[in-house]
Amino acid sequence: MKLATNTILKEIQTSGHLPSPTGVALTILELARNPDTSTEDMAMVLVGDPSLTGQILKYANSAISGSRGEITNINDALVRLGMSTVRQLCLGFSVLSNSRSGPCPNFDYSVYWTHSLAMAVSSQALSRLIKSVIPDEAFTCGLLCNIGHLALASVYPTRYSKVLTKWDHGFRSKLLEFEEKKLSINHNTVSVVLFEDWGLPDYYCLAVDLQENEDWSSLPAGRRAQDRGHQLGRILNIAHLAAEICLETGDRRHPMVLQFMKIGEEMGIGENQWVALYDEILAEWGRLGHILNIVTSNVPSLETLVSRAREFRGNIPDKDVQLEEIDDNGRQDADNPAELAEQSALSKGMDILVVTDSLVDMRILEKKLTAAGHRLTKAVDGQDALEQALNTNPQVILTDWMMPRLDGLELTHSLRQTTMAAETYMIIMTAQEGNDQLVEAFDAGIDDYVVKPINHGILNARLKAAARIVTLQERAARHREEVSRTINELGILSRQMHTMALEDQLTKLPNRRSGLEHFEKEWSRSSRTGESLLCMILDIDHFKKVNDKYGHDAGDVVLEKTAAVMKSAMRDIDVVCRFGGEEFLVICPGADVNVAKSVGNRLRKAIEGNVMDTPEFKGNITISIGVAVRNEKHTSPKDMIKEADEALYAAKEAGRNMVCIAG
Ligand code: GH3
Ligand code: MG
Ligand code: MG
Repeated sequence: MKLATNTILKEIQTSGHLPSPTGVALTILELARNPDTSTEDMAMVLVGDPSLTGQILKYANSAISGSRGEITNINDALVRLGMSTVRQLCLGFSVLSNSRSGPCPNFDYSVYWTHSLAMAVSSQALSRLIKSVIPDEAFTCGLLCNIGHLALASVYPTRYSKVLTKWDHGFRSKLLEFEEKKLSINHNTVSVVLFEDWGLPDYYCLAVDLQENEDWSSLPAGRRAQDRGHQLGRILNIAHLAAEICLETGDRRHPMVLQFMKIGEEMGIGENQWVALYDEILAEWGRLGHILNIVTSNVPSLETLVSRAREFRGNIPDKDVQLEEIDDNGRQDADNPAELAEQSALSKGMDILVVTDSLVDMRILEKKLTAAGHRLTKAVDGQDALEQALNTNPQVILTDWMMPRLDGLELTHSLRQTTMAAETYMIIMTAQEGNDQLVEAFDAGIDDYVVKPINHGILNARLKAAARIVTLQERAARHREEVSRTINELGILSRQMHTMALEDQLTKLPNRRSGLEHFEKEWSRSSRTGESLLCMILDIDHFKKVNDKYGHDAGDVVLEKTAAVMKSAMRDIDVVCRFGGEEFLVICPGADVNVAKSVGNRLRKAIEGNVMDTPEFKGNITISIGVAVRNEKHTSPKDMIKEADEALYAAKEAGRNMVCIAG
């Protein structure tokens, strides 16, 4: 029922604000796709980014990576951690450094990374204990597995902000539901799409879906070696809980702590060992937070938390918000931040970064420019200016040429390489008006120059020209944003339409068309593999009477509730669809004649036993089922449906509330 992932990716990419790796990390991702890349190639690229290299070395030397001797160079780190781990660490650390803040008002970027790091460290520690997944892999997957949250906050800041406010840290499943309703997509789908785009292994994607399941004991055990997705999913799921415990401070922590203990017990891990594991997680969380500059907090040891939880007698308010509470007033919600009336930079002054090592010049410039209505930040040399420009994002930079550490031309050159300051209007102050020097300055990327000693009338005139350009640039940027917002809105619409075309609106089950498409696929698969295949047609008994006696609305409620019971009574790989009116089609791959009866009866009993208690309808209903198991006489799904239909008719004839198997 999912849109092709590349369509989603295109839609969300057009926004241009997706969390993504840049620079050296991007090159590393590309390099690692090539099987011929050697560790030396990787190391050569990596040293181009000292801060990334530093983080990887620190990770390699941290206790959690299980390191013994100290690792001092990137080559050794690559050998010790392996190329694929280093690649994923580059990805994680690079996304982190690019997404520490963003446009979504109610999304706490800092808490997001705090939580992600807690998940990473917990996944790491758990996988070392359980020994099902490679610990470094668990670390990176834990760090990135909630990336879909960040992406939604970046792509749909206003709408997502609203979703988050309404959700108010309630049940996890509710957030997924709210996202689907408002954005027609959820954060896990987006994580999967990004993982695929970044070339992360397939089983990560499966694991992402399992990590948020609130019912741990229902997760597939994944015992076989090839069930890596399930194994990683279980680890992420527990890690998620561990991370929530790290972040939660109120009474809601108590049930989480008890649940965490219960999981340890179910896994057969001794209480002492489990408590020690958690305390190790806390310590590593703090240590790594320090290295990566991520905020962490002092959480009491698990032993303390457990005794508090066991003593707790109060009530925990549940925050189960209803979907209906999200008001849906169209454009008002659209990601369309207040369209500020365009105020010209000419009239309201500009944010100017003045760069000079001369105190006297600085004082005069400050006086004149402030008097002209501009707002100033000051830097004493090129290096200082580089940092300030990236922090404060000025509209204009007015810089000296000759300065210690980094001169005006080097500063211009460096800024032009960055995304943020590639277009910032730059004026250089120069005593050298020779033609060659000026050509050199324009080549480096300046927009204009003024000659020293400065004539303030001329400088003022040149700043007016700058203001005109700045205004035009800002207008163009607003238009670009408007276009990408519109594209985002269209993306939401197109996903909604796609879902509507394949989904039954009342029961939210796949509709007839989608069910038949699915049946065709399973048919081909079973032809290929020789696996058995079974289909059932279900029809509600005397449904007309429900409508006649209680009204059509009651009939609708019965259909909705019955559909939900059917879905939950079947396995994940079975497909239940609404075939028409009060008829349903169920397709069970891998099921043969021996299980046909038990599967049918399980379903029949589940429905009979489902007593509804709604304002519209009270009581239960029954269904009749016709089953067909694929045999050599069938030439297509149609033959099977026809046979199941005949069996259904026989079940009705024989008295209803019955399963009848064709043949
Ligand atoms: P049987 O046991 O033989 O299946 O009897 P029945 O009354 O269920 O069968 P019949 O085919 O005579 O009636 C089916 C009814 O289902 C008739 C139709 O109005 C009702 N129905 C079909 N679709 C919907 C729907 O979406 N909502 C409601 N409320 N009723 C529906
Ligand atoms: Mg019928
Ligand atoms: Mg019927």
